[in-house]
Amino acid sequence: MATYRDMGIVLKARGLRGDDRQYVVFTESHGKVSLLAKGTRKIGSKMSPHMGAFGVVDLMVARGRQMDRLAGANLSLSFRRVAASLERTSTVQSLLLAVDSLTRWELPEPRIFELLLEFMTAMDREGTVIDRRPVFNAAMIKLFDVLGFGLEIDVCVGCRQSVDFYGNALNVLRGGIECRNCRSGTALGVMGDTVKVLRFLRRERLSQAGLLRLTDQVRDQVAFIVDVLVTSNLEARFDPLRYMISVNA
Ligand SMILES: [Zn+2]
Repeated sequence: MATYRDMGIVLKARGLRGDDRQYVVFTESHGKVSLLAKGTRKIGSKMSPHMGAFGVVDLMVARGRQMDRLAGANLSLSFRRVAASLERTSTVQSLLLAVDSLTRWELPEPRIFELLLEFMTAMDREGTVIDRRPVFNAAMIKLFDVLGFGLEIDVCVGCRQSVDFYGNALNVLRGGIECRNCRSGTALGVMGDTVKVLRFLRRERLSQAGLLRLTDQVRDQVAFIVDVLVTSNLEARFDPLRYMISVNA
């Protein structure tokens, strides 16, 4: 039987009949894959703790005719502070869920694997709890960029001129910022500082996003814009509750 080895981050898991489990894993070289694990819920199963932890797993996969099977799993990196904190866990799970919902099967995209790794590393930081929301928003902006749904924030989506600091608005349908000449009267205004922050989040490492000092207004606008991006791209597939239940099963 053909096998391959890869590094992966578990996006979700669910119990199947008997002691079997299905894991959805984002791998470094094979993209998002579905793996069947036989008998992992049995007490003493060797692979289950590695697959159930927040971390990077060294995987051995056996190709199957209908489903690929997990043939081996070793935790090579674990994020203990994420696992130990409900807040950190829920923030990480939000990104895992978004990646699961937005990506296609077996489409290799190492940048998404790296983004997940960078995000979990940022969430696992020691000491004072960093401001998680801007880090999550930055990760989502980067994810949309990789997927090709990135927001246009450098030039106006109408006239293609670079946008000024004042008078801009968000146009979700056209995927970006409209300048004061192109915007419609009812469009949501976007502050110049918000555009600056969006550019910063897109450009910088995730760890930098947590250090930003934002006014409440800018913070809310950035969060709102990311929410709009998420909602317009995920449609009805976003189902956090079902996801949480499947993970905790
Ligand atoms: Zn314009």
